[in-house]
Amino acid sequence: MFSGDDILSCILAIIMSVIASGVSNLVICFLYSKEEKEDEEKNIHALCQSCKNEYSKVAYLFPFLRKKKVSSCPNCGSMISNQFIVMQLLNIILYIATILYLGLNLETVLLCLFITALITISMVDFRIYEIPDSYNLFILILGIFISIIDRNEIVSHLIGMVVISGFLFLVALISVFMGREAMGGGDIKLMFASGLVLGVKGIVVAFIVGCIAGSVIHLVRMLVTKADHQLSFGPYLAMGMVYSVFFGERTCNWYLNIISAYGRLRNIM
Ligand SMILES: [Zn+2]
Repeated sequence: MFSGDDILSCILAIIMSVIASGVSNLVICFLYSKEEKEDEEKNIHALCQSCKNEYSKVAYLFPFLRKKKVSSCPNCGSMISNQFIVMQLLNIILYIATILYLGLNLETVLLCLFITALITISMVDFRIYEIPDSYNLFILILGIFISIIDRNEIVSHLIGMVVISGFLFLVALISVFMGREAMGGGDIKLMFASGLVLGVKGIVVAFIVGCIAGSVIHLVRMLVTKADHQLSFGPYLAMGMVYSVFFGERTCNWYLNIISAYGRLRNIM
């Protein structure tokens, strides 16, 4: 079932994902640990939750090393948050899937880094309702490289940048005029940068999938916990975009086929 090449790809995927997610953990904790110390609200679990002490860098890089002294707080001995292990596991699974599905090439590696950024953004947005600008910038840079590799489709990548972000910008503008803030600027920037990565078909599919996932999951959460949650849109958009990395093009073509089949049917009748 699996060839030697597949096994080699899996091993490479695991090594790459552990390094990439470890570095991302480290970067995000570096960005937020100071704020977490000063502001109760800005808590992304970068610091020890009992004494607000910093863990060692190795703990952020390899949180699954559940060893005393390595991933425990140097001050009180509490273990680093499980969220970092969950994020690293998600990275490993998605890297393996992406590399097996798309094959190992430079574009796949860039898409893997895109996925790592999306996972980190989701965690931060879920915790503190904020999407870090530096990660949006990182995605934009990935998008520039992907557009250069995929230069035959450059127009699609460029339109992708503005098609959803432009729409969200309009929604935000209208909602400001109506005196309420519905859309975070971080979401708009995320869709701008990710549109360059995914192209027009990809980003539209990602947005629709994200909206559907967001409404369903948010509704279930509200029913289960009976609480009025503030919605962080980032994780759902990220889910849509991961879906789009795998099935975006296919879903879009499938939909366009249905439309054209319907059109032909109407012509016959
Ligand atoms: Zn501690």
